[in-house]
Amino acid sequence: MAKIVVIGSASMDLVVTAAKRPGAGETVLGDSFKTVPGGKGANQAVACARLGAEVTMVGCVGDDSFGKTILNNLQSNGVVTDYVEPVTGIESGTAHIILAEGDNSIVVVKAANDRITPAYVGQAAAVIKASDIVLIQQEIPEETVVHVSEICSKYHVPLMLNPAPARPVPSRVIEQAAYITPNEHEAAILFGDEPLSDVLRRYPNKLIVTEGKNGVRYFDGSQEVVVPGYQVEAVDTTGAGDTFNGAFAVALAEGMSITDSLRFANRAASLSVMRFGAQGGMPTRDEVEGSL
Ligand code: ADP
Repeated sequence: MAKIVVIGSASMDLVVTAAKRPGAGETVLGDSFKTVPGGKGANQAVACARLGAEVTMVGCVGDDSFGKTILNNLQSNGVVTDYVEPVTGIESGTAHIILAEGDNSIVVVKAANDRITPAYVGQAAAVIKASDIVLIQQEIPEETVVHVSEICSKYHVPLMLNPAPARPVPSRVIEQAAYITPNEHEAAILFGDEPLSDVLRRYPNKLIVTEGKNGVRYFDGSQEVVVPGYQVEAVDTTGAGDTFNGAFAVALAEGMSITDSLRFANRAASLSVMRFGAQGGMPTRDEVEGSL
């Protein structure tokens, strides 16, 4: 069984649908409200677990009812939560999402996710050392990403950085990471105006740029390779990237080649967009293998 450590955010998404988005000082009536567990870290941990990996999550929740729900959700998906600590006196991370007029607007409150400090993550050094791959995103403090990169480098554990949400990544982390998986928008923030082909060439078999339904692009050391996506009826693309990253990590940890791992990840992500919700759409191992 692939052993994966996911270090990142775990939050509650509070989702409102309304016909109209309120302007400043305005109140409108909404049509529906629901709460769904989210956060890129938790989403990717659940994606890995559904695909059959042994997953340990490292993160923080608040000492509120959302924290309990987030923990229960991780556990019921088979994620080990020994390193997901309820922090006293702070709220769980939340994303306040308004779906209106065909678009979403989101306010994220990091709260407990900001308590994932280098010192906190350091407590999980032994489990990081014993893992096949570590998966991390950017909804946690930058210094923590840097510290995890150092730990992984020291123990020779491959680190996969999903640089989302977009923010510049310290060059040391770019050098130390084994895999970096931005979407096109994030790649532009990381590498500026430099043509993508040149950037890909500089990071062979490391930089994997996702291109939505078109799949992914990387440089294999001798040529640029596109691993095409699967054509499906997309219902909800929320969490496509999280499913992709989880699945890519699982396949690599099991020893699949990069190309085969990307094919597996594209398939898993394509299945996720056919269903509603980030975690709600994430496929099981049987579903992915049955359709490859
Ligand atoms: P993000 O969700 O992080 O913005 P992308 O949109 O690039 O990232 O999607 C990540 C991956 O999910 C893609 O590489 C692809 O495998 C899959 N994917 C995304 N959208 C679709 C779609 N409409 N149809 C099929 N696969 C998709």
